[in-house]
Amino acid sequence: MPAIAQKQSVNTPPRFLCDEMLGRLCRYLRAAGYDALFARNGSSDAELLQQCKDEGRHFLTQDTLIREHKAARGIALILPRGNLDQLAAIVKEQFKLDWLNHAFTRCLVDNSTLMLADDTALARAPADALRPNEPLFCCPTCRRIYWRGSHYKRMHAKLVAWQTTRADRATLTAIQV
Ligand SMILES: [Zn+2]
Repeated sequence: MPAIAQKQSVNTPPRFLCDEMLGRLCRYLRAAGYDALFARNGSSDAELLQQCKDEGRHFLTQDTLIREHKAARGIALILPRGNLDQLAAIVKEQFKLDWLNHAFTRCLVDNSTLMLADDTALARAPADALRPNEPLFCCPTCRRIYWRGSHYKRMHAKLVAWQTTRADRATLTAIQV
């Protein structure tokens, strides 16, 4: 049985590793709460595919040559060249993603699961981040503080649009390797 099938039950959300061309998509997958890693320059395809196998991740790429790797089978999804909205529509359909259910539960920078801000984090928070009835979150790894500012609102609006609109993707398809 392939590693991914063993590690993912029906209720386990899919996990991803995005190649270096898909940085923005990776960030939005994190914004939606999905465990998404970003491939750093210098890693070989073989290393990345092995990591996906070990960690039960899907490899998202735009490199069609990945098909030549035997290890890519059942792991790599080749996305077409398209804008972010189109790519989002494709992965949503492919993996049955919910862009809103667990939105803003991960650090956009390092993928860590956010915690409610503790007193130390609150003391560092900018004044306009402190609002009644709006909890503040903090990343346990990089200590960044997350609040519902303008950046949050922009990203949230995009997630809402992706979740609620049915995208026309007739001309674009992904290739499951
Ligand atoms: Zn962080």
